Amino acid sequence: MSGIRPTGYLHLGNYFGAMKNYVKLQEEYTCFFMVADLHALTTHPDTRELKENVHRVIAENIACGINPDKAALYCQSHVRETSELYLYLNMLAYLGELEKTTTFKDKARLQPDNINAGLLTYPVLQTADIILHRASWVPVGKDQEQHLEMARNFVKRFNHRYGEVFPEPMAYNFGEQLVKVPSLDGLGKMSKSENQMATIYLADDDELIRKKVMKAKTDAGPTEPNTPKPDYIENIFQLMNLVSKAETIQAFEKSYLDCTIRYGDMKKQLAEDMVEFVAPIRMKAASIQQDKTYLKKTMDIGAEKARDSATKTMQLVRAAMGLDY
Ligand code: AMP
Repeated sequence: MSGIRPTGYLHLGNYFGAMKNYVKLQEEYTCFFMVADLHALTTHPDTRELKENVHRVIAENIACGINPDKAALYCQSHVRETSELYLYLNMLAYLGELEKTTTFKDKARLQPDNINAGLLTYPVLQTADIILHRASWVPVGKDQEQHLEMARNFVKRFNHRYGEVFPEPMAYNFGEQLVKVPSLDGLGKMSKSENQMATIYLADDDELIRKKVMKAKTDAGPTEPNTPKPDYIENIFQLMNLVSKAETIQAFEKSYLDCTIRYGDMKKQLAEDMVEFVAPIRMKAASIQQDKTYLKKTMDIGAEKARDSATKTMQLVRAAMGLDY
C-alpha cells in the first residue's frame, strides 16, 4: 500500500522513490495505491484545483506503469472507512511524539499561520491508510522512514491494547536502500513544491528538461586524480545512475578519476537521457488525463476494491475494540 499527494506535478523523486516499486510490486502482491487528497488538505486547503490534480496523479500513475486491472488505484477520500480508523488511531497517538516528527516541524516552519491539527496528525492518517488494508509493505522514498516507524508504533499499541489485528508495516524498496532523489541545485531533494527549477517533473517538455539540467551546479573539475566528489557532483552522478546506461556512467566515472571530465558534456548526456526517460511518460499521461470517462471509471473500480478490503478490516477493528454492539 502506498500513496502520493495531489499537491503538484509528479517528479523523478516520486518515480524512483515510490512508483517504480509500485509497478514491480503489483506483479506479485495484492496492491493498493491511492491519491492522498485528504493529506493534501493539511497544506493546500484551497480545493479549486484539487479535482484536476487528482486526475493528473491518477493519469501519471497509469502512465508510469500501474495497471488498474491488477492493483487497486483509488482516491483516498472515496474510502470513508479511512476516516473512522484515523479517529480510533488518534486516541493512541501522543502529542509529544507527533510534535517531534521531522515533517511536522518542517511544515510548521513553512506555514506558521496554518499549523492545523491535521498537519500534526498526518502520520496517524497515513497509518490509517496503510493498515486499513492490513498491508505489510509500503513502497516509499527515504523521507518517509520516520512515518513508517511511527506507523509501527501505533500498530503495536493497537495490537497490545485490543488484540492482534494488524501486521507491522515496513518501508519497501526493491533495491537495498530507500531512495532519495537529489535536486539539481545540490541543496536538497526533488520536490513537488520547492525548488521547481531544480526538479525534473514528469510533465516537463524536452527543452525545459535540458534547460534545468544544464543549470545544475558544477565546478571546474578535479585537478588531482582520485579526489573525493563534492556533494553537488555526487548528485549528478546519482541522477545519471537513475536514467543513463551503465557504460555511460562508467565512462564519466573514469574521466572523473583521471581529471579529464567535462561537466558540460556530462550534463548534456544526462539531459538527453532524462528527455528519453520522461517524454513517453509525459505523452501517455497527457492523453489519459483528457479521457475523463476512463479516469472516473478507473477511480470507481479502484475505490470499490479498496472499500471491499476496508470493510473487512473495520469489522475486525470494531470487534477487537468492543465497538460491535
Ligand atoms: P509526496 O510527493 O510527498 O506525496 O511523496 C510521494 C512519494 O514519493 C513518497 O513515497 C515519497 O517518499 C516519494 N518521494 C518524494 N520525493 C522524493 C525524492 N526526492 N526522492 C525519493 N522519493 C521521493
